[in-house]
Amino acid sequence: MTASTRSVRPVPARVRVRATPPWWRDAIGVACWVSALVVAALWLRGRGAQSLVAGAGEQLTSLGRLTGLVAADLLLIQVLLMARVPMIERSYGQDELARRHRLVGFWSFNLLLAHIVLITFGYALSGHVNVVSETWTLVSSYGGMLLAVAATAALTAVTVTSVRIARRRLRYESWHLLHLYAYLGVGLSIPHEIWTGQDFISSGLSRFYWWSSYALAAGAVLVFRVGLPVLRTFRHGIRVTSVVQETPDVLTVRMGGRGLHRLPVQAGQFFIFRFLDGPGWSRGNPYSLSAAPRHDRIQITAKDLGDGSGRLRSLRPGTGVLIEGPYGRLTGEHRVGSKVAMIASGIGITPMRALLEDLEYDKGDAILIYRAHSAQDLVFREELDALASERGVTVHYLTGPRGVGADSWLPRHHPQARGGDALRRLIPDLRRYDVFVCGPDAWMDAVADAALTAGLPPGQLHQERFTW
Ligand SMILES: Cc1cc2nc3c(=O)[nH]c(=O)nc-3n(C[C@H](O)[C@H](O)[C@H](O)COP(=O)(O)OP(=O)(O)OC[C@H]3O[C@@H](n4cnc5c(N)ncnc54)[C@H](O)[C@@H]3O)c2cc1C
Repeated sequence: MTASTRSVRPVPARVRVRATPPWWRDAIGVACWVSALVVAALWLRGRGAQSLVAGAGEQLTSLGRLTGLVAADLLLIQVLLMARVPMIERSYGQDELARRHRLVGFWSFNLLLAHIVLITFGYALSGHVNVVSETWTLVSSYGGMLLAVAATAALTAVTVTSVRIARRRLRYESWHLLHLYAYLGVGLSIPHEIWTGQDFISSGLSRFYWWSSYALAAGAVLVFRVGLPVLRTFRHGIRVTSVVQETPDVLTVRMGGRGLHRLPVQAGQFFIFRFLDGPGWSRGNPYSLSAAPRHDRIQITAKDLGDGSGRLRSLRPGTGVLIEGPYGRLTGEHRVGSKVAMIASGIGITPMRALLEDLEYDKGDAILIYRAHSAQDLVFREELDALASERGVTVHYLTGPRGVGADSWLPRHHPQARGGDALRRLIPDLRRYDVFVCGPDAWMDAVADAALTAGLPPGQLHQERFTW
């Protein structure tokens, strides 16, 4: 058979990812509020309001029941928010979910403290005993209370280490490991809810609500944090194919696998990767795809910042890879118009390059603004220049030391001192663009500020943060 008659295997088409309906986000928000209302209604049904007009002890106890119920409900919402349920993840994006999870977490913890104080004082007042002896009685003679104390300790450790100052001092892995104690806290609190919490078991309705809520949260974690990643990992058998040094501290890892066209991933998304290259493999690191996903390969590009990213340097072809994902909503599916502008700084270029390769746009309708400390730090220069000539992307490289103040997203010596003016000049007709932004946190805030000041409608600003 000659080369010309040899049959060529068709390239399988990548699976189409269905767009996330915008109402999902509202529906999830409403569901959270409804769950809080259901809990309040169950408390009312358990004569919670009547107890408020009884004696002082009864009042405190009733408020303690309410705060405890809402705290438990918020705890389950917290678990669900981080369970990587695709509907939730794609509606909010991981970075916003992490912020909401944090906010709900602090509310849940404060209500838990209020619950403990109110119940203890309420029981002490009703029993005409002092608070110290009531505390001892509660812990030593009520079913499940010792476990509840352990649950409180676990949740306290999680909350204290999540306060910004403490979090900054901890290594990411230590913080993450401690954070898993939250699951322990949720589990250990259940026995006291069943054995002493009358609102949990008083009626068939409340039993149904609480058991189905716990089952939903546990099921979501098992299916989406464990089952789906394991399934995808085995199905696709991803392995490293090559490692390419891009700049002295940035490298690209290319990976291949079976049936990658069936992986429902879009340019701009990220996975949590675990490379099976020896001790330490169990620690996952999130990386965005740095090129449009192909039917037979994906790739990431990472800056060497610490232990996890540093070990990528020694990866060998053939190394197995565990994947969790795809995650993230920095994709083309939320575009409003036909023009796109990508604004990246440093390693934030990775999802931008993938998006520029993958999105549909006419010649002249795409702009890339790429900020780096120096010309040597620009990654993908060749590939970006090729995109400029082949697909008509206008590329602006902004190099130089960091500026100061609110407009610090520009290099220090940029001719336009004000960020908004510079943006209007670089992206004339800014209002007609969808603007995608990725880079360090403070830099992204400055870009977002400049873009909104320059008149970009908020719905056309799309961002993904590399920190949670
Ligand atoms: C959605 C997302 C996409 C990302 N995409 C890229 C990319 O394309 N290229 C790139 O170079 N970097 C990317 N990052 C950043 C990258 O994940 C971190 O630089 C890397 O995990 C650092 O790990 P380390 O052990 O080398 O450094 P460390 O010194 O351990 O950590 C440095 C910092 O990275 C963060 N970090 C570490 N491990 C994790 C983790 N498992 N999950 C979340 N944050 C962590 C922490 O905030 C920490 O302070 C991305 C991060 C996120 C959240």
